[in-house]
Amino acid sequence: MRTAPTILHLDMDAFFASVEQASKPSLRGKAVVVGGLGPRGVVATCSYEARVFGVHSAMPMGQARRLAPHAAYLVPRFELYRSISEQVMRLLRELSPLVEPLSLDEAFVDLEAGGVARDAESARGAGEKLRAAIRTVTGLTGSVGLAASKMLAKIASEQAKPDGLVLIPPGTERAMLEPMTVRTLPGVGPATGDHLRRAGITTVGEIAEAGEDELVRLLGKAHGHALYAMALARDERPVVAERETKSVSVEDTYDVDIHDRVRVGVEVGRLADRCVRRLRASGLSGRTIVLKVRRYDFSTLTRSETLRGPTDDPAVVREAAARLLDSVDTTGGVRLLGVGVSGLADYTQEDLFAQAAGDRAEEPAEETEAEPAEEHRPSPAERRWPAGHDVRHTELGHGWVQGSGLGRVTVRFETPYSQVGRVRTFPVDDPELSPADPLPLVAEPEGGAAQPSSLPLPLPASLPKSWSGGGGAAATSKP
Ligand SMILES: [Mg+2]
Repeated sequence: MRTAPTILHLDMDAFFASVEQASKPSLRGKAVVVGGLGPRGVVATCSYEARVFGVHSAMPMGQARRLAPHAAYLVPRFELYRSISEQVMRLLRELSPLVEPLSLDEAFVDLEAGGVARDAESARGAGEKLRAAIRTVTGLTGSVGLAASKMLAKIASEQAKPDGLVLIPPGTERAMLEPMTVRTLPGVGPATGDHLRRAGITTVGEIAEAGEDELVRLLGKAHGHALYAMALARDERPVVAERETKSVSVEDTYDVDIHDRVRVGVEVGRLADRCVRRLRASGLSGRTIVLKVRRYDFSTLTRSETLRGPTDDPAVVREAAARLLDSVDTTGGVRLLGVGVSGLADYTQEDLFAQAAGDRAEEPAEETEAEPAEEHRPSPAERRWPAGHDVRHTELGHGWVQGSGLGRVTVRFETPYSQVGRVRTFPVDDPELSPADPLPLVAEPEGGAAQPSSLPLPLPASLPKSWSGGGGAAATSKP
């Protein structure tokens, strides 16, 4: 294990909820809950103000509503979250070629490999500069953990939350871990935690005391060895850079979670066929078949299988996708499925599933980044108004849906750069009202104004393309 705390773990604070608060001035400092709002929905993220009431991620939405009846309940805007995630990941890649994203708002960075830190002091400096740059570019806060291993860096960022930085000096790891609950260690969920507790083991120190043989006896060989090593703060896992993915993929989000396993299988087969149509339309073939499953609680899994040679045979892709599905637990329901083929000769795409979550296009269209939302907008007669999503009124300008029902939709007219806006109610089919793209959280500098020279890191040249048609609302500077 390295001797300097040069592995960094970044975790954005209450990411989805923070994005919503930055977008909507009326929600700043308020309880905000983002997640599925249907009868079986669960909380994806909630603001710190909502956590005070006991609301937390993966909690059934009905329970959250009982605990925090006055919170704002919003439908996730994954397209926007992904754009902001890309800005953050770009800042991380300025620090090192070794960046390993874990989710939209979390990543490991090997600072040593990037040459930006070699000891505790330089690592802390790089971490603080990163936090400042994230705030400047996105307007959001992230917490940073620094340590000599991935496991400890992640524990450190958890301790740093919200809006902080914690560095674990090498040599102090074991003493720090000893009194902590076993649940602190990666891979120890509720089931393993209970199992250990019944054996009288509740802290990390007690794992170390129990010894490796006892751990293997309790948990089996692989898990026992791994857990014992982690309890001794031994973690040699390297930071692995996300490889550039060359791929074609399709995915579907379902309005109602799919529970029936047979239906899930049918949907995966259908997606495999659609994916192959796209592949063939581009004259491509690929070797690696990827299945993506987002479950009812928003946890997202990807599974892949690499074939011996490239294929564009629908039967082969369908069979591989079905095999991959066999290894995924879909109990509780599935809200999104995707099938992709990667390992292509002549194709570049940053994110295997870069498409908007709402993409339901059936035709084998060419994959382009962030397809214009207009193409997928339903006609006025059938359009829905998800809570929290952006709208534009021909006269009143940009706003967001505060709620809808009984043929009416309530809109609050405000933007990330405005004061708290006022609320108006319209008939759902009001021709003056239309869905709009999200606005960037930080206003673009006018005429490319000079960046403050004190900024520690280069800023991205511009915001993602998908924002350029943001409905024409003037992006004036912040008050
Ligand atoms: Mg986070």
